[in-house]
Amino acid sequence: MHRFLTRALIAGCLTAAAALSALPASAEVRVFACEPEWASLAQEVGGGDVTVYSATHGGQDPHHIRARPSLIAQIRRADLLFCSGAELEIGWLPVLMQRGARIGIQPGQPGHLMAAEHVDVLERPAVIDRSLGDVHASGNPHVHVDPRNIRVLASELAARLGAIDPDRADAYQTRLADFHARWDNATAEWDARAEALRGTPLIVQHAYWAYLFDWLGLERVASMERVAGIPPSAPFLQEVLAHSRSTDVKAIIRANYEPTDAAEWLSERSGLPIVELPSTVGSYPEVSDLFSFFSEILTRLEAIPDQSASVPGFRQPTG
Ligand SMILES: [Zn+2]
Repeated sequence: MHRFLTRALIAGCLTAAAALSALPASAEVRVFACEPEWASLAQEVGGGDVTVYSATHGGQDPHHIRARPSLIAQIRRADLLFCSGAELEIGWLPVLMQRGARIGIQPGQPGHLMAAEHVDVLERPAVIDRSLGDVHASGNPHVHVDPRNIRVLASELAARLGAIDPDRADAYQTRLADFHARWDNATAEWDARAEALRGTPLIVQHAYWAYLFDWLGLERVASMERVAGIPPSAPFLQEVLAHSRSTDVKAIIRANYEPTDAAEWLSERSGLPIVELPSTVGSYPEVSDLFSFFSEILTRLEAIPDQSASVPGFRQPTG
């Protein structure tokens, strides 16, 4: 009788263990990523233990997103919110959060992960002033365009996933170690390629690239927006044009989602080539993950011709 009971207990325990290890799909951690770069990172670290939803795609302007009903439905189910922060999502995320987001993803909870809170934010103004429509009033929110920041965020994400889903904390740490190993290899390669690019003087359409420039040591000669997020005015563009003629600039950098007219206006008059860069994962079909995102940016920067801007009539086909 005693032996039978022991066997029954062991059998019961094994059944329970099997049930735990074969969790139903509903037990996966649901990640709501505001931007595709964070969705991609969540997929790297979360693997099959998470389901990831990205609120935006790589062709969208991340500053201007509508709080659509489909986003509200997704945020209500989310266990982890992963966004850029620094007010990039100020126009839509607070609206979503008020529509039934769970306690676990509210500020201060492990499920509330804002990238800008875990890295050094660049271009933080001394005084916050949104009166001119500055979309970077809390500093530059595009922190993902530096692989060093991605590395830090991967660690933070693994810790958060482990706190939300302690049964699989080891799995997240294992996947993190694997990601870090691959990431460090890739970063070393990118750093080597970046040597030839250091100090390249460039004009940017929007201050999207502050972290990229900081990482690669590129020189931002001018931004075509006097205030971040406000389309360039004709007089200001004339100033940028005059500046470009008096400086050795190599190219105009714009993001894939930005309108082309202002950059083309400047390119036609200055003779500078326009270099379009992917803003995030998914901006082009070949930019399918964070690795190909940085690789593609470098490839496009490496294609900038070493041609002086002062040559009259010089016009490089855009690409
Ligand atoms: Zn911006």
